Amino acid sequence: MSSKATKYVFVTGGVLSGLGKGITAASIGKLLKARGLSVNLQKCDPYLNVDAGLLNPREHGECFVTKDGAETDLDLGHYERFIDEELTGSSSLMSGRVLLKLIQDERAGKFEGEDVQIIPHLTGSIADWITEAGKGFDVHIVEIGGTVGDYESLSFVEAIRELGLRVGLENCVYVHVVYLPYLGASNETKTKPAQNSVRELRGLGIAPDILVGRSENHASQAAKEKLSLFSGVAESSIALLPNAKSIYEVPLTLEDTGIADVITKKLKLKTSKPHLDDWRQVVEKATSTYGKTISVAFVAKYMDNSDTYMSVLEALRAAAWHKNVNVDITWIDATEFDENPKNTAKELEKYEGILVPGGFGKRGLEGKIASAAYALNSKKPYLGLCLGMQVAVVAAARNAGIKSATTFELNPESKELVINTMSDQSDKLNTGGTMRLGNYDCQIEKDTLAAKLYKSTKIVERHRHRGECNNKYKAEFKKWGIVASGTNPENNLVEIIEAENHPFFIACQFHPEFRSRPNRPHPLFSGFVESLL
Ligand code: GLN
Repeated sequence: MSSKATKYVFVTGGVLSGLGKGITAASIGKLLKARGLSVNLQKCDPYLNVDAGLLNPREHGECFVTKDGAETDLDLGHYERFIDEELTGSSSLMSGRVLLKLIQDERAGKFEGEDVQIIPHLTGSIADWITEAGKGFDVHIVEIGGTVGDYESLSFVEAIRELGLRVGLENCVYVHVVYLPYLGASNETKTKPAQNSVRELRGLGIAPDILVGRSENHASQAAKEKLSLFSGVAESSIALLPNAKSIYEVPLTLEDTGIADVITKKLKLKTSKPHLDDWRQVVEKATSTYGKTISVAFVAKYMDNSDTYMSVLEALRAAAWHKNVNVDITWIDATEFDENPKNTAKELEKYEGILVPGGFGKRGLEGKIASAAYALNSKKPYLGLCLGMQVAVVAAARNAGIKSATTFELNPESKELVINTMSDQSDKLNTGGTMRLGNYDCQIEKDTLAAKLYKSTKIVERHRHRGECNNKYKAEFKKWGIVASGTNPENNLVEIIEAENHPFFIACQFHPEFRSRPNRPHPLFSGFVESLL
């Protein structure tokens, strides 16, 4: 990292949400890193929540966990996968966090009698959080959630405007991502909504340096010329970004538009030739169709939003490409097995492998336990992640005759809680930031499947859960046909279990999906895919 002042790239969005601003920000990060620069990314979210920990994953998508245990927006997952760096909690900033600190400071008398106002106090405070997160990096890329003009995101937009004055406009690039709709009747890409959005941004005091025009199909050169004329942004600073076959293609498409060079030129950054060969291989793998397809039953809830399990799906796909196979993932609604656990066999026998991802709450839990039991007994490959490990342990205990074995989420009063909360957790259910979060060490037993997959006996993985394997039962694992193949050396809690006499049955208390990369799939996912070949 250089000691020079950090330069900033601000990414805002207009016209409508869901344009892939996060992917655009991550792609810019990738292109700058590929030029030898040190890059950080930060997502600013206008929600009044303090972090993403208590947000409903069904509506908001996955809660991504950083190594230092921050519960963040799923865009951080894209950032990490694209720039291949581990970010920290400072890369996620929600309004609630800024406001909480501001009000606490006010109560602590830190304003010495001043009026505390949106401008300059709130906006100045946002600018402070941003500069703090960017310290030490060549470039800090800041994505502002929401759409410009929303009442909600006004303070963030104002903060990045003020920040431009604070650090010098020559050290900032403002990128505005807009939508270019296509009208079939007149066979035309329309630029008016984008023009209006640029006008709105200008009205808020920000003149965009770069426009990224998102469209469903390829927009024409004529559309670009028109957008340039009416928005006053040079054609060379407008990137057209039609829908991609794979999100991993976006950095390459952006590279071809030349905007990475526009950014480095404006910021007067010394760069090397972009190294994108490894990424081209990723895209090649991600977009290829292979001769063989493996089928995986994904036993979960929230069937209507794949964002809920974003990192797990990306990890599974990456593992499959790297083994040169397609993966066919079928969502199985665990809640359907809750009442009729016997139906699992009929449904799950259709698939080669079974994956149970993380989850919370009672609904679907019995169904997931039944699915793990089916995998154990039928010898079908099984990968359990977090909750997927807890249900596997319950299934193994019940298989061995402890019929009332259960977990704290199903029946906290039970006498046979093989999965239970730690004593410091039981009174904190449904509160924010109180789970076991972030990196913990894991010591792996020699001669186990885990050791074979990781090719190491010391690993670190990210956590997000309240429940743990109840160590009271650990001595019985052998009788249940499972082994604790990974344990945390400090707190002695079980991190990984696997079944004996089974071709592939492994489950972990942590979330390996957060450390998988498109260019470097995670060993547990690779092992799972391998077991299905
Ligand atoms: N609900 C379980 C717990 O709190 C599992 C959490 C998860 O899967 N992330 O321990």
